[in-house]
Amino acid sequence: MGIRVAVVGSGPAGSSAAEVLAKAGIETYLFERKLDNAKPCGGAIPLCMVSEFDIPPEIVDRRVRNMKMISPSNREVDIRIVKEDEYIGMCRREVLDGFLRDRAEKLGANLINGTVHKLEIPTSDTAPYVIHYADHSDGSLTGENKTLKVDVVIGADGANSRVAKAIEAGDYNYAIAFQERIRLPEDKMVYYNDLAEMYVGDDVSPDFYAWVFPKYDHVAVGTGTMRVNQAKIKKLQAGIRARAARRLEGGEIIKVEAHPIPEHPRPRRVRGRVALVGDAAGTVTKSSGEGIYFAAKSARMCAETIVETTNAGQKLPTEADLNLYLKRWDKQYGMTYLVLDLLQRVFYRSDATREAFVEMCDDKDVQKLTFDSYLYKTVVPANPLVQMKITAKTIGSLLRGNALAP
Ligand SMILES: Cc1cc2nc3c(=O)[nH]c(=O)nc-3n(C[C@H](O)[C@H](O)[C@H](O)COP(=O)(O)OP(=O)(O)OC[C@H]3O[C@@H](n4cnc5c(N)ncnc54)[C@H](O)[C@@H]3O)c2cc1C
Repeated sequence: MGIRVAVVGSGPAGSSAAEVLAKAGIETYLFERKLDNAKPCGGAIPLCMVSEFDIPPEIVDRRVRNMKMISPSNREVDIRIVKEDEYIGMCRREVLDGFLRDRAEKLGANLINGTVHKLEIPTSDTAPYVIHYADHSDGSLTGENKTLKVDVVIGADGANSRVAKAIEAGDYNYAIAFQERIRLPEDKMVYYNDLAEMYVGDDVSPDFYAWVFPKYDHVAVGTGTMRVNQAKIKKLQAGIRARAARRLEGGEIIKVEAHPIPEHPRPRRVRGRVALVGDAAGTVTKSSGEGIYFAAKSARMCAETIVETTNAGQKLPTEADLNLYLKRWDKQYGMTYLVLDLLQRVFYRSDATREAFVEMCDDKDVQKLTFDSYLYKTVVPANPLVQMKITAKTIGSLLRGNALAP
């Protein structure tokens, strides 16, 4: 008899893991508490997500080819994508998540509409984990209490992960992101047709950026900060609304949402035969706050490691087997996280450094490097001359903005 794997949560992470496991013929249970969940999110995805995860064109509402950076003094720099077939995809999460979940189910994952509220940890290396959940398949919110025994658990249940708590994975610092969905009059919406905006400045966030991202028929306007404080976040949101006021004129708020964004990985991401992936593990990058692709990718890598080390589900994996996923993850993306962390520390420090950051983004070589690394997640080293030019420009921008003053 083969192993049974439970994947808790069916956001981009959970469904991506379930897909790999089901395809390999492993008995897979995918838990989701809310099948029409619309995760609070900007919904921006890089091109490599579209190709690597076979996202069909109709899932992408808008194709952004111009990212406007706006400095504290309202200097605007357009970062344009030059190549015809390149873009940043803007999705509605309920649509993207629904698509990935349906695909995993079609490939053979057993989808359970249930809220997992407890994970019983076995006392031996071979005994099963017991999942306690409320089954909502009767349509009720409270659901019917049930249990399921499994051999392996993947925690893909987001920033407030129950699975992480059950395995005492430890806490991480998190930012709070706040977002308003605003429906604009038609003539105002035209401006955001293939354009997104990023605002920086103390008035919109002390340590992050604020955004206006186009959605299907409205825009998402939001901001985030690590210095979590309810009153403060409202003030910052008022800041971005004021900065973008002219462009949002006549808009109507249709939804207000807030959610934590993990700042770094949890102290433990694997314990026994349980692995955390996506936001539950803490895979969002600094600077950009990007999490969809990294959630899906970490989950895929984890599931592939399970398929490989268990010979497609023929034996139980050990903690060391699951740790292999983390080793591979850190090897592939460790540098990306480091660079983006550094970028955030250097450039989001003060209005002077932010001013320098926006000035730097005016450079075509910087734009190409930034877009290539965002769209394809490969840090392609520029040729040495270009790299020297970029370094000199960076230092020049920082000096001009008096940004290096202590
Ligand atoms: C305001 C905001 C804007 C953002 N903008 C962007 C952006 O533009 N681009 C980007 O790449 N990233 C963005 N992010 C980050 C991104 O949203 C996350 O990194 C991403 O959703 C992580 O995916 P995940 O599958 O790990 O977790 P989630 O998307 O949180 O999915 C977890 C799933 O588990 C389910 N679940 C939770 N608990 C249980 C339980 N106990 N039982 C059963 N099911 C459960 C939930 O219903 C949910 O469906 C943003 C985040 C915020 C807050």
